Amino acid sequence: MKCRSQRTDAPTRAIPDAIRQQVLARDGAACTFVGADGKRCGSTWRLEFDHVIPVALGGETSVENLRVLCRAHNQFEAERVLGSEYQRAAT
Ligand SMILES: [Zn+2]
Repeated sequence: MKCRSQRTDAPTRAIPDAIRQQVLARDGAACTFVGADGKRCGSTWRLEFDHVIPVALGGETSVENLRVLCRAHNQFEAERVLGSEYQRAAT
């Protein structure tokens, strides 16, 4: 019953610098999105940090659960992952 709650008091959006540096180094400071054709995006345009398992679904802010995505793919993934999960939760 807690899946729809938004905990605005939790600092889930804040990613410590140490974790940011490790994720950037691991991913080569480029978008890690891999398309259906198996090609990696590799864009360095407006990079953002994406939770592989969304925070809303219990994902942690850790190096293992974070990856680098360009802004376009971050939004694409958020809609794909959260959109389907939210629809499932609403039914
Ligand atoms: Zn990308």
